[in-house]
Amino acid sequence: MYVDMHMHQLDYSSDGHQTVSQIIQAAKAAGLMGFCITDHYDKEIAYRPDREEIFPLDRYFAALEPLRRSSRVDQPQLLIGIELGYQPHLASHYAGLTSRWPFDAVLLSLHLLDGQDPFDDRTIYAEGRCSLYRRYITRLTEMIEGCPDHDIITHFDYISRYAPYPDRAMTYAELSDCWDDFCRMLVRHDKCLEINVATIAALSDKEKPDRDAFPDQELIKAWLRLGGRRICLGSDAHRPEHIARLFPELAAWLSGLGVAELTWYERRQPRTIRLEQAPAGQTVTDSSEI
Ligand SMILES: [Zn+2]
Ligand SMILES: [Zn+2]
Repeated sequence: MYVDMHMHQLDYSSDGHQTVSQIIQAAKAAGLMGFCITDHYDKEIAYRPDREEIFPLDRYFAALEPLRRSSRVDQPQLLIGIELGYQPHLASHYAGLTSRWPFDAVLLSLHLLDGQDPFDDRTIYAEGRCSLYRRYITRLTEMIEGCPDHDIITHFDYISRYAPYPDRAMTYAELSDCWDDFCRMLVRHDKCLEINVATIAALSDKEKPDRDAFPDQELIKAWLRLGGRRICLGSDAHRPEHIARLFPELAAWLSGLGVAELTWYERRQPRTIRLEQAPAGQTVTDSSEI
Protein backbone atom coordinates (compact mmCIF):
# COMPACT_ATOMS: atom_id res chain seq x y z
CA MET A 1 0.00 0.00 0.00
CA TYR A 2 1.44 3.32 -1.12
CA VAL A 3 0.66 7.01 -0.87
CA ASP A 4 0.87 8.97 -4.13
CA MET A 5 2.04 12.44 -3.13
CA HIS A 6 1.66 14.32 -6.42
CA MET A 7 -1.24 14.76 -8.88
CA HIS A 8 -3.30 17.43 -10.64
CA GLN A 9 -6.98 17.94 -11.34
CA LEU A 10 -8.58 19.76 -14.23
CA ASP A 11 -10.48 22.35 -12.18
CA TYR A 12 -7.32 23.90 -10.74
CA SER A 13 -4.35 22.95 -12.95
CA SER A 14 -4.53 24.15 -16.55
CA ASP A 15 -2.87 20.93 -17.76
CA GLY A 16 -4.99 18.62 -15.57
CA HIS A 17 -7.28 16.11 -17.31
CA GLN A 18 -9.01 14.45 -14.37
CA THR A 19 -11.75 15.32 -11.93
CA VAL A 20 -11.51 14.64 -8.24
CA SER A 21 -14.04 11.78 -8.59
CA GLN A 22 -11.87 10.17 -11.27
CA ILE A 23 -8.86 10.54 -8.98
CA ILE A 24 -10.72 8.87 -6.09
CA GLN A 25 -11.76 5.97 -8.34
CA ALA A 26 -8.23 5.54 -9.71
CA ALA A 27 -6.72 5.64 -6.20
CA LYS A 28 -9.13 2.89 -5.13
CA ALA A 29 -8.36 0.80 -8.20
CA ALA A 30 -4.62 1.16 -7.52
CA GLY A 31 -5.12 0.03 -3.92
CA LEU A 32 -3.50 3.19 -2.55
CA MET A 33 -3.44 3.96 1.14
CA GLY A 34 -3.66 7.66 0.32
CA PHE A 35 -3.25 10.26 -2.40
CA CYS A 36 -2.38 13.93 -2.27
CA ILE A 37 -3.92 16.42 -4.68
CA THR A 38 -1.25 19.01 -5.47
CA ASP A 39 -2.46 21.52 -8.00
CA HIS A 40 -0.11 23.98 -9.67
CA TYR A 41 0.32 27.33 -8.00
CA ASP A 42 2.80 29.16 -10.21
CA LYS A 43 2.53 32.81 -9.41
CA GLU A 44 3.69 35.07 -12.26
CA ILE A 45 3.70 32.24 -14.80
CA ALA A 46 1.09 32.26 -17.55
CA TYR A 47 0.72 29.42 -20.06
CA ARG A 48 -2.54 30.99 -21.21
CA PRO A 49 -2.79 34.66 -22.20
CA ASP A 50 -3.22 36.97 -19.19
CA ARG A 51 -3.88 34.15 -16.78
CA GLU A 52 -1.50 33.32 -13.98
CA GLU A 53 -1.24 29.64 -13.07
CA ILE A 54 -2.83 30.17 -9.67
CA PHE A 55 -6.28 29.57 -8.19
CA PRO A 56 -8.38 30.77 -5.26
CA LEU A 57 -7.41 28.78 -2.20
CA ASP A 58 -10.74 29.38 -0.48
CA ARG A 59 -12.51 27.62 -3.37
CA TYR A 60 -9.91 24.83 -3.38
CA PHE A 61 -10.37 24.09 0.30
CA ALA A 62 -14.16 24.47 0.10
CA ALA A 63 -14.17 21.74 -2.57
CA LEU A 64 -11.60 19.38 -1.04
CA GLU A 65 -12.03 19.78 2.71
CA PRO A 66 -15.40 17.94 2.90
CA LEU A 67 -13.85 15.05 0.94
CA ARG A 68 -10.82 14.97 3.22
CA ARG A 69 -13.06 15.01 6.30
CA SER A 70 -15.29 12.22 5.05
CA SER A 71 -12.46 9.89 3.93
CA ARG A 72 -13.37 6.42 5.23
CA VAL A 73 -10.74 4.35 7.01
CA ASP A 74 -11.17 1.50 4.54
CA GLN A 75 -10.69 3.82 1.53
CA PRO A 76 -7.63 5.69 0.24
CA GLN A 77 -7.14 8.80 2.34
CA LEU A 78 -7.54 12.10 0.47
CA LEU A 79 -4.81 14.60 1.29
CA ILE A 80 -4.73 18.26 0.30
CA GLY A 81 -1.48 19.59 -1.06
CA ILE A 82 -0.15 22.20 -3.43
CA GLU A 83 2.72 22.44 -5.90
CA LEU A 84 4.28 25.87 -5.49
CA GLY A 85 6.33 27.14 -8.41
CA TYR A 86 9.35 28.82 -6.85
CA GLN A 87 11.05 32.02 -7.83
CA PRO A 88 13.28 33.70 -5.24
CA HIS A 89 11.20 36.87 -4.90
CA LEU A 90 8.02 34.84 -4.23
CA ALA A 91 9.30 33.19 -1.04
CA SER A 92 7.55 35.50 1.43
CA HIS A 93 4.31 35.41 -0.55
CA TYR A 94 4.34 31.61 -0.49
CA ALA A 95 5.22 31.57 3.22
CA GLY A 96 2.03 33.60 3.78
CA LEU A 97 -0.03 30.98 1.94
CA THR A 98 1.47 27.94 3.60
CA SER A 99 1.07 29.37 7.08
CA ARG A 100 -2.57 30.35 6.46
CA TRP A 101 -4.02 27.23 4.84
CA PRO A 102 -4.21 23.73 6.39
CA PHE A 103 -2.33 21.72 3.79
CA ASP A 104 -1.27 18.15 4.31
CA ALA A 105 1.80 18.62 2.14
CA VAL A 106 3.56 21.48 0.37
CA LEU A 107 5.55 20.58 -2.75
CA LEU A 108 8.14 23.02 -4.00
CA SER A 109 9.07 22.99 -7.67
CA LEU A 110 11.53 24.82 -9.87
CA HIS A 111 9.73 25.27 -13.18
CA LEU A 112 11.66 28.43 -14.09
CA LEU A 113 15.42 28.53 -14.09
CA ASP A 114 16.59 32.13 -13.53
CA GLY A 115 13.45 33.35 -15.26
CA GLN A 116 13.65 30.97 -18.23
CA ASP A 117 11.16 28.16 -18.78
CA PRO A 118 12.71 24.88 -19.99
CA PHE A 119 9.24 23.68 -21.02
CA ASP A 120 8.78 26.20 -23.83
CA ASP A 121 11.99 28.23 -24.17
CA ARG A 122 14.34 26.05 -26.20
CA THR A 123 17.14 28.63 -26.08
CA ILE A 124 17.90 27.56 -22.52
CA TYR A 125 19.49 24.32 -23.76
CA ALA A 126 22.16 26.11 -25.84
CA GLU A 127 24.22 26.48 -22.68
CA GLY A 128 25.08 22.77 -22.82
CA ARG A 129 23.99 19.86 -20.74
CA CYS A 130 26.57 19.85 -17.97
CA SER A 131 26.60 23.58 -17.29
CA LEU A 132 22.79 23.82 -17.46
CA TYR A 133 22.24 20.88 -15.14
CA ARG A 134 24.80 22.28 -12.69
CA ARG A 135 22.96 25.60 -12.62
CA TYR A 136 19.62 23.85 -12.09
CA ILE A 137 20.86 21.73 -9.17
CA THR A 138 22.50 24.78 -7.60
CA ARG A 139 19.23 26.71 -7.78
CA LEU A 140 17.37 23.74 -6.29
CA THR A 141 19.78 23.74 -3.38
CA GLU A 142 19.27 27.48 -2.85
CA MET A 143 15.51 27.02 -3.11
CA ILE A 144 15.41 24.64 -0.12
CA GLU A 145 16.83 27.38 2.08
CA GLY A 146 15.14 30.27 0.31
CA CYS A 147 11.59 29.01 0.84
CA PRO A 148 11.87 26.82 3.93
CA ASP A 149 8.18 26.22 4.66
CA HIS A 150 7.73 23.20 2.40
CA ASP A 151 7.86 19.44 2.74
CA ILE A 152 8.83 17.91 -0.60
CA ILE A 153 11.22 18.91 -3.38
CA THR A 154 9.41 17.70 -6.45
CA HIS A 155 10.97 16.57 -9.75
CA PHE A 156 14.60 17.47 -9.03
CA ASP A 157 15.22 16.19 -12.56
CA TYR A 158 12.72 18.52 -14.28
CA ILE A 159 15.45 20.21 -16.35
CA SER A 160 16.12 16.90 -18.11
CA ARG A 161 12.48 16.24 -18.95
CA TYR A 162 12.24 18.35 -22.12
CA ALA A 163 15.96 18.56 -22.94
CA PRO A 164 16.98 17.94 -26.58
CA TYR A 165 20.28 16.24 -25.72
CA PRO A 166 20.81 12.67 -27.00
CA ASP A 167 21.40 11.47 -23.45
CA ARG A 168 19.18 13.60 -21.27
CA ALA A 169 19.45 11.69 -18.00
CA MET A 170 21.15 13.43 -15.08
CA THR A 171 23.99 11.43 -13.59
CA TYR A 172 25.60 11.68 -10.20
CA ALA A 173 29.16 11.11 -11.44
CA GLU A 174 29.40 14.16 -13.68
CA LEU A 175 28.13 16.63 -11.04
CA SER A 176 28.84 14.85 -7.77
CA ASP A 177 29.92 17.97 -5.83
CA CYS A 178 26.69 19.71 -6.78
CA TRP A 179 24.53 16.70 -5.94
CA ASP A 180 26.26 16.29 -2.59
CA ASP A 181 25.47 19.92 -1.68
CA PHE A 182 21.86 19.37 -2.71
CA CYS A 183 21.56 16.18 -0.63
CA ARG A 184 23.21 17.80 2.40
CA MET A 185 20.75 20.69 2.19
CA LEU A 186 17.78 18.29 2.02
CA VAL A 187 19.07 16.46 5.08
CA ARG A 188 19.87 19.63 7.04
CA HIS A 189 16.34 20.95 6.53
CA ASP A 190 14.68 17.53 6.87
CA LYS A 191 13.00 17.83 3.46
CA CYS A 192 11.70 15.00 1.35
CA LEU A 193 13.12 13.98 -2.04
CA GLU A 194 10.47 12.96 -4.57
CA ILE A 195 10.88 10.28 -7.21
CA ASN A 196 8.78 11.77 -9.99
CA VAL A 197 7.18 9.31 -12.39
CA ALA A 198 6.31 11.91 -15.02
CA THR A 199 10.01 12.54 -15.58
CA ILE A 200 10.66 8.79 -15.79
CA ALA A 201 7.88 8.52 -18.38
CA ALA A 202 9.32 11.43 -20.36
CA LEU A 203 12.80 9.89 -20.37
CA SER A 204 11.65 6.42 -21.36
CA ASP A 205 10.74 5.46 -24.89
CA LYS A 206 10.42 2.37 -27.05
CA GLU A 207 14.17 1.74 -26.95
CA LYS A 208 14.54 2.64 -23.31
CA PRO A 209 12.06 0.92 -21.00
CA ASP A 210 10.86 2.60 -17.81
CA ARG A 211 13.39 0.81 -15.62
CA ASP A 212 16.30 2.32 -17.55
CA ALA A 213 14.80 5.78 -17.10
CA PHE A 214 14.72 5.60 -13.31
CA PRO A 215 16.93 8.23 -11.66
CA ASP A 216 20.63 7.43 -11.43
CA GLN A 217 21.04 4.94 -8.60
CA GLU A 218 24.34 6.57 -7.63
CA LEU A 219 22.37 9.66 -6.69
CA ILE A 220 20.14 7.67 -4.33
CA LYS A 221 23.20 6.00 -2.82
CA ALA A 222 24.88 9.39 -2.28
CA TRP A 223 21.72 10.78 -0.67
CA LEU A 224 21.63 7.78 1.69
CA ARG A 225 25.34 8.12 2.47
CA LEU A 226 24.86 11.78 3.37
CA GLY A 227 22.05 10.94 5.80
CA GLY A 228 18.98 11.08 3.52
CA ARG A 229 15.89 9.53 5.06
CA ARG A 230 12.80 11.18 3.59
CA ILE A 231 11.85 10.04 0.12
CA CYS A 232 8.41 9.80 -1.50
CA LEU A 233 6.76 8.64 -4.69
CA GLY A 234 4.83 11.09 -6.84
CA SER A 235 3.12 10.06 -10.05
CA ASP A 236 2.62 13.72 -11.08
CA ALA A 237 -0.50 12.30 -12.73
CA HIS A 238 -2.58 14.59 -14.90
CA ARG A 239 -4.80 11.65 -15.99
CA PRO A 240 -6.37 8.88 -13.89
CA GLU A 241 -4.48 6.08 -15.65
CA HIS A 242 -1.20 7.60 -14.47
CA ILE A 243 -1.97 7.57 -10.75
CA ALA A 244 0.51 5.38 -8.82
CA ARG A 245 2.19 4.41 -12.09
CA LEU A 246 5.32 2.21 -11.52
CA PHE A 247 5.00 2.40 -7.72
CA PRO A 248 5.68 -1.29 -6.94
CA GLU A 249 8.66 -1.28 -9.30
CA LEU A 250 10.05 1.92 -7.78
CA ALA A 251 9.55 0.68 -4.21
CA ALA A 252 11.38 -2.55 -4.98
CA TRP A 253 14.16 -0.62 -6.72
CA LEU A 254 14.59 1.79 -3.78
CA SER A 255 14.50 -1.07 -1.31
CA GLY A 256 17.22 -2.85 -3.26
CA LEU A 257 19.37 0.30 -2.95
CA GLY A 258 18.97 0.28 0.83
CA VAL A 259 16.10 2.74 1.28
CA ALA A 260 14.22 1.67 4.42
CA GLU A 261 10.99 3.65 4.18
CA LEU A 262 8.81 5.91 2.08
CA THR A 263 7.56 9.18 3.54
CA TRP A 264 4.15 10.79 3.15
CA TYR A 265 2.60 13.78 4.91
CA GLU A 266 -0.57 14.40 6.83
CA ARG A 267 -1.19 17.94 8.16
CA ARG A 268 2.43 18.72 7.38
CA GLN A 269 3.67 15.90 9.61
CA PRO A 270 5.89 13.21 8.06
CA ARG A 271 4.68 9.63 8.26
CA THR A 272 6.39 6.59 6.89
CA ILE A 273 5.71 3.30 5.18
CA ARG A 274 8.39 0.75 5.90
CA LEU A 275 9.95 -1.05 2.96
CA GLU A 276 11.10 -4.57 3.54
CA GLN A 277 14.62 -5.12 2.29
CA ALA A 278 13.53 -7.49 -0.45
CA PRO A 279 15.32 -8.33 -3.67
CA ALA A 280 14.45 -5.99 -6.53
CA GLY A 281 11.38 -7.16 -8.40
CA GLN A 282 9.34 -8.02 -5.33
CA THR A 283 6.59 -5.76 -4.05
CA VAL A 284 7.41 -4.44 -0.62
CA THR A 285 5.10 -2.52 1.63
CA ASP A 286 3.88 -2.59 5.12
CA SER A 287 2.59 -0.54 8.00
CA SER A 288 2.51 3.18 8.60
CA GLU A 289 4.12 5.02 11.48
CA ILE A 290 5.03 8.55 12.43
ZN1 LIG B 1 5.84 20.46 -11.69
ZN1 LIG C 1 3.10 18.44 -10.87
